[in-house]
Amino acid sequence: MSSLIFEKSREGRRCAVIPKCELKAEIPAQLIRQTPPKLPEIAEVDLVRHYTNLSRRAYGVDNGFYPLGSCTMKYNPKIDEDAASLKGFTDIHPLQSIQSVQGCLEAMYMLKTYLCEITGMDDMTLQPAAGAHGEFTGLSMIRTYLSSIGQGYRTKLIVPDSAHGTNPASAAMNGFDVVNIPSTQQGFVDLEALRAAVGEDTAALMLTNPNTVGRFDENILEITDIVHSAGGLVYYDGANMNAVMGLARPGDMGFDVVHLNLHKTFATPHGGGGPGSGPVGCKARLSAFLPSPVVTCNEGKYELITPESTIGSVGSFYGNFLVCIKALAYIMTLGAQGIREVSENAVLNANYLMEMLKDTYDIPFEGPCMHEFVMSLERLKKETGVNASDIAKGLIDLGIHPPTMYFPLIVHEALMLEPTETESRETLDNAIQAFKKLKQTALENPQALHDSPVTTPIGRPDETAAVRYPILKYSFTE
Ligand SMILES: *Cc1c(COP(=O)(O)O)cnc(C)c1O
Repeated sequence: MSSLIFEKSREGRRCAVIPKCELKAEIPAQLIRQTPPKLPEIAEVDLVRHYTNLSRRAYGVDNGFYPLGSCTMKYNPKIDEDAASLKGFTDIHPLQSIQSVQGCLEAMYMLKTYLCEITGMDDMTLQPAAGAHGEFTGLSMIRTYLSSIGQGYRTKLIVPDSAHGTNPASAAMNGFDVVNIPSTQQGFVDLEALRAAVGEDTAALMLTNPNTVGRFDENILEITDIVHSAGGLVYYDGANMNAVMGLARPGDMGFDVVHLNLHKTFATPHGGGGPGSGPVGCKARLSAFLPSPVVTCNEGKYELITPESTIGSVGSFYGNFLVCIKALAYIMTLGAQGIREVSENAVLNANYLMEMLKDTYDIPFEGPCMHEFVMSLERLKKETGVNASDIAKGLIDLGIHPPTMYFPLIVHEALMLEPTETESRETLDNAIQAFKKLKQTALENPQALHDSPVTTPIGRPDETAAVRYPILKYSFTE
């Protein structure tokens, strides 16, 4: 274990030595602190080594395989970062005049147009900063739309149990009553349960598709139809768009609103809480409710307008602009054909991995998957005592980031794998070998897996305590 920066501090040590400042600032006495801040005092070389060594402990897509299901941890081409670092994009101010940022507005307009094309929607906002934020925005638009047509009595929001966890949360935060409906054996929406659930009070159905078990609901047209017939709207959680881009469009399936995760599908790295973007697309009847401002084009001039019945703003200014630039660069470099191939390869890679592992681990849902799949370690746990967490920890020692664990909740001892399209055959084969090796270890020496990981600075922290009682600052002894 290396020491903390505060422990490395030695009185009087400094980084670069610069001449004493001769300017005297007039700071009001009450604003001057009484005791100096306890900043670490350290030489430049030790400072650089400290952070460089810490950074080498972080594991990201640039280090190795990262099959974290539901998260689309794919490699993001560096050229998209280059595009987003161009001075014309970075050296602007949100309060600049519209005339002086026409190029940037054009970029936003182009992105919006491409994303509408990919999703089959008529209009779009780029303002929400994340997927869940997009959900909240889209549902607010639905709520405001319903009251505008005198149907504020529609208060129920139907969410299948195979939805992403953020869906019921976004619905509840919008004041809707969440109605949960079960999935069938194949992991699809139970149509009978849906028919029984819809009615006069149905505001909308929120569908994660492909769902959290990696299935494209084969009754999708019937689902949107059932909800529309009851007068409700349908919301498509498009965070999993990586599986269907260029192949199928939510708009064509009857959906009214969709959100995307640019930080999953469209070239912005994520994890660690960096900037994201969750654009929300809608059909024409909802565009008057989009958050303000919306970028439009009028006779070759780009403008920012406030939609007539806007729900208001959901963030400051125009969203995470540079994330949008990365998405635009990504789409333009790939082109229509490339975008489609991304999804085809994402699905191919997931199916390859699933096929190669299905004799080693139980796959609870039969048939081909989309971009991800779920395995259940329930039987392995019964037979050997090794659970999903143990296998995940064992993978760390083999240099692979663990898959998503214990999610979705409808599968016991779940591990959810999403290899993404950017992984090579060799990387996938290596992962297959790792998973097989861990199964062997589980049968022969389960204790070894209970003890893993052994190659990391910390083995098994108390995860509950780490969440409930996080120690986020250094306690000085004196
Ligand atoms: C990731 C994800 C979300 C939430 O996105 P955030 O940007 O983390 O808020 C919502 N739905 C699905 C299906 C997801 O995979």
